[in-house]
Amino acid sequence: MRTQKTLGIIGGMSWESTQTYYQLINKGVKDELGGLHSADIIIHSLDFAPIAALQAKDDWNKLAKLLIDSGLGLKRAGVEGLLIASNTMHKVAEQVQLAVDLPLIHIADATANIILNQKLKTVALLGTKFTMNNESAEPHFYQQRLIDAGLTVLVPESKAQDKIHDIIYNELCQGQLLSESRDYYIEVIKELAQQGAQGVILGCTEIGLLIKPEDSPIPVFDTTQIHAEAGVRFLLHT
Ligand code: GLU
Repeated sequence: MRTQKTLGIIGGMSWESTQTYYQLINKGVKDELGGLHSADIIIHSLDFAPIAALQAKDDWNKLAKLLIDSGLGLKRAGVEGLLIASNTMHKVAEQVQLAVDLPLIHIADATANIILNQKLKTVALLGTKFTMNNESAEPHFYQQRLIDAGLTVLVPESKAQDKIHDIIYNELCQGQLLSESRDYYIEVIKELAQQGAQGVILGCTEIGLLIKPEDSPIPVFDTTQIHAEAGVRFLLHT
């Protein structure tokens, strides 16, 4: 008897957080099905260096193509749904979903649902500059989804965004967890809490490696954990 679906994960962005997804999704399936059960998943772990270079060049068309190719490969391999294991790369999620034509578990939707279930309204968002920034005239790929869901989103001021972004690429994505960077993130979270944030979205899949709920003065919403739980629900309950 078939107990679960097959889920495709586009990962490696960075692999430091993809391994957390792997652990959490397997653990979630085992918690529900018990015994020797584990997750039926296929991970395509991409080389992050060329991806980060294309992000820095703002070449989102090439990035979309890369992820579409990955998604199509996973589809040919038999997956029934897709998960992109990065907040930033959700910038091209709609293009991927359209081209691959499979259900895609959107990280911002899964996060907004959890926050709304807890009856919070105003949240801080930490992530890469691509995820936090909302300067372009186009509807923003990440914040707009949270706003459409009914949330008010606060982001750090521009200098703090730069530093948070640099810590992600220069440290967290390279497996370095430094206490001074943790202290800096906590300082920023405190400021946003003073501005009215009732909770903070760790809107980059590596931030949860650095910041734990007990470090933060306000409730933490770790997108890696929330997204992995949504992956488990897809595998077992759809
Ligand atoms: N994993 C990160 C995120 O969730 C950043 C790395 C990337 O740019 O994909 O946004």
